[in-house]
Amino acid sequence: MESLKTFEQLLDEKEELQWKLEEANDTIEAIRNGLVDAIVVNGDKGHRIYSLKTADQTFRFFIEKMNEGAVTLNREGYIIYSNTSFASLVGLPLEKVIGSSFANFIVEECQERYHDIIASAWDEDCKEEFYITNKRGERTCCLVSCNAIEMEDGLSLSLIITDLTSQKETQERLRSQNLQLEEAHERSEQMNDRLEVTVKERTVDLHNSREHFKLLANNITQIAWTNLPNGEVNFYNDRWYEYTGLSFDETMEMGGQSIVHPDDLENTIQKYQQALKSGDIFEIESRFKRYDNTYRWHLNRAVPHRDETGEIVFWIGTATDIDDQKRELERKDEFIGVASHELKTPLTSLKGYLQLMKMQMKNESPLFSTYIAKANIVANKLQHLVDDLLDVSKINAGRLDYLLEEINLRTVIDTCVDYAVHIYHTFSFEIDNKTDFIVKGNSERIEQVLMNLVNNAVKYSTTDKRVIIKTQKIGDDVRVSITDFGIGLSENQKKKIFERFYRVEEKKYLISGLGMGLYISSQIVTTHGGTVGVESELSKGSTFYFDLPLVG
Ligand code: ADP
Repeated sequence: MESLKTFEQLLDEKEELQWKLEEANDTIEAIRNGLVDAIVVNGDKGHRIYSLKTADQTFRFFIEKMNEGAVTLNREGYIIYSNTSFASLVGLPLEKVIGSSFANFIVEECQERYHDIIASAWDEDCKEEFYITNKRGERTCCLVSCNAIEMEDGLSLSLIITDLTSQKETQERLRSQNLQLEEAHERSEQMNDRLEVTVKERTVDLHNSREHFKLLANNITQIAWTNLPNGEVNFYNDRWYEYTGLSFDETMEMGGQSIVHPDDLENTIQKYQQALKSGDIFEIESRFKRYDNTYRWHLNRAVPHRDETGEIVFWIGTATDIDDQKRELERKDEFIGVASHELKTPLTSLKGYLQLMKMQMKNESPLFSTYIAKANIVANKLQHLVDDLLDVSKINAGRLDYLLEEINLRTVIDTCVDYAVHIYHTFSFEIDNKTDFIVKGNSERIEQVLMNLVNNAVKYSTTDKRVIIKTQKIGDDVRVSITDFGIGLSENQKKKIFERFYRVEEKKYLISGLGMGLYISSQIVTTHGGTVGVESELSKGSTFYFDLPLVG
């Protein structure tokens, strides 16, 4: 049994150990600073000297400062040199690292592999990943590169330890980013596939709809075309080629307008340009030259097709052959002209004879004069109709002309109202505003317009029997309006009532007429440089008006 040491002995031992520790620290410091090239290590086999063959200060300084851990092992795997990076990696002071077995810093599950690698590293340089543990047991994944280096007293193993944590994190991030990229790629491929299918389907749809359109366009009796927003025609249906006798190339070369009658050309081009500019429906009647050089009237119509933003994509146009209807209308107009002339002559004689009879029958039975008066009323109505028919026929022929002079509208209105009061006993006529308004016109024709409007006001009134005639100055014009409180008109009816022979087909009210009065009136006002209009509401009444330019 070992005898107990005395206090003095222990003090001596402590002092010796203290001295050795200081010596060791000095040695380490000296190595680090390049002051010594070799150290003496007390190992299993007694003291041994280790030195670096090629060591120089710069190299050591570099090793000391680098981020990677750098250690040198002796044959037994003990650390004979370590830089501070490795010491901080394992969380120990340098003096505790140096002299330790490197295996102490390798985690348990890597031990076997570590020993194999280290054993072979003496013969061949190698690299391997290991988990290195620090003093708190925390693990760090590191790449350990081993190189055997020649020392003065034999081989040492130099290890460079690279902390792979941030590299691993980067790798992990890269891996997950790659994964995301792959997923995105896969998704985009799927989308591509779907898109391809959709495009294929749409292409088929488009083809079908184009075929459908062509089939439709080529089988209608009208000429049809499509044109771009700039007016350039990019499609004509078969009917165009049949009618014009032109080939596709000829059409493209000469242009569609080459078949328009020279008299209609300017107007047609002007309206077409106007429509292209405004985007409003294009509509005009013009004559088109057929393959046999004869001209036929066509009603041309083009409507714009817009996209969802309202932008015009193209126009669809049709030209309907209305030549037969036009000729029919011309024949009808001619007939009206001739018939009204033919009727006028016997009617004038009839009225003359009635006049004579009235003078001759003074002393005869009172019944005779009643009959004659009634026959006169009927003859006047007939006269009125014939006059209207004659006017219509004159308007059609463009021959509605008359003398214009300065007239006072107030006088014309007074005359009409006097007459109306005389013939429509049950109605009340109110003149709103008795100011003088001078216009350039034909008093007979203006009287005709006024009487037409007053007659209609009476004709289309039911219970409320008031008629108001109003004059007012609007800008440089005077407006004459005739208001009634009768059956009124719908929005749709209002649009058409100034057309020739238009009558409202209303079963509720059976009021006779031929639909000529408003047409003639509007034409008279137009030839006076004025305009006509109407404001009306069904069952509430109407206000018909006309504006004429004031003189001065
Ligand atoms: P008509 O001989 O049929 O009266 P007009 O040309 O004078 O011909 O009028 C055309 C149509 O306009 C009439 O058939 C009628 O339906 C409508 N109309 C004209 N004036 C009025 C009015 N004051 N109130 C309601 N409807 C009217």
